[in-house]
Amino acid sequence: MSRPPHVDTDADAEANADAGSDAGAPPTATAPPDPSSIDTSRRPFVLIWEVTQACDLACDHCRADATPARHPDELTTAEGKRLLDQAREFGPGQLVVLSGGDPLARSDLAELVKYGTDLGLRMTLTPSGTSSLTPETVADLVDAGVRRMALSLDGATAASHDAFRGEDGSFDQTVAAARAAREAGLPLQINTTVCAQTVDELPALCDLVADLGAVLWSVFFLVPVGRGRVLDPISPERAERVMEWLTEVSEDAPFGVKTTEAPHYRRVAIQRRRDASDAPPTDGIGRRLGITAGDGFAFVSHTGDLFPSGFLPATAGNVRDGGLVERYRESDLFRSLRDRDALGGKCGACEFRHVCGGSRSRAYAHTGDPLASDPLCAYVPDGYDGPMPATRSAGD
Ligand code: SF4
Repeated sequence: MSRPPHVDTDADAEANADAGSDAGAPPTATAPPDPSSIDTSRRPFVLIWEVTQACDLACDHCRADATPARHPDELTTAEGKRLLDQAREFGPGQLVVLSGGDPLARSDLAELVKYGTDLGLRMTLTPSGTSSLTPETVADLVDAGVRRMALSLDGATAASHDAFRGEDGSFDQTVAAARAAREAGLPLQINTTVCAQTVDELPALCDLVADLGAVLWSVFFLVPVGRGRVLDPISPERAERVMEWLTEVSEDAPFGVKTTEAPHYRRVAIQRRRDASDAPPTDGIGRRLGITAGDGFAFVSHTGDLFPSGFLPATAGNVRDGGLVERYRESDLFRSLRDRDALGGKCGACEFRHVCGGSRSRAYAHTGDPLASDPLCAYVPDGYDGPMPATRSAGD
């Protein structure tokens, strides 16, 4: 008999991947907290800091609209360290992701990683696949204490990935960096964008993720912001089939699987579990282990503005001079995003809203209202007869 599908939430998958990175190590101040112990109204499970928007690539999907040059108002080294001091106030073992642009565009990157590590933060990194990501650079970052590196692969071949990334050679450089990370003992995460242009390559990408020895595959369902507006999202029906396939992958793959901006992956997994067992219909519905924009997730821009996610451009103010923890916990924007009973449309009527809640970023991108329904979800709650979200899709 095959194993029943389980609900591997974003937080579970992150924690499991992190636990893998700690295998055999003694407990430390940076040990990953138990996801079920985190009160997401008090602290984010993941805090992303976009250290720069500078990047040599010009990817079709870039949320940041990255440019080659660094912004003159980017947080300085001293301001960045003050931001990390604030992140420490969330509690021990806070997970911090340094993203971009390309974080390697900053010459103080290893210094920032070491500073955060010394504070007890779990510092991770999402560099771009460029020639600057050498084995020597990877080794320096490992020495500084980086805990995991996430690399993007959006095509399973050099031709498809490089076309998506707008740079010949990006695929080969990314694969070389992935192997360098593994050789340095650094846990590897692979990020993949799902849209009409990439969806047919997912099975081949899955094989590649396994071949590279990744601990986590993060599958991002396109939100049309930044340059991503030129790409075509897949339809809700196709997204449903992809998520069903991902639950199957997660049962046997040697790596964890999580979705980004697609919390209905949890709803799909719960429905599959119900179908595969005699579990009562309410099993699992009351738990809140997932993370969504502003609820377990926060994003600080290169100039210090705090957002619920990098894909939801509504800000709770600037944290360059302080206020990160207070704004995360108390701002009207973040508090409203954590109130699942305030959701509108079919998300508000949905019995899965407490474990899912829909992508608030996608709702905002499509309607300007972060509490509206997520238009990528095919599920219609029993008895719901209200308005349905409009969708734009291709690639079926
Ligand atoms: S309707 Fe909304 S809350 Fe319900 S499963 Fe879909 S996205 Fe999630």
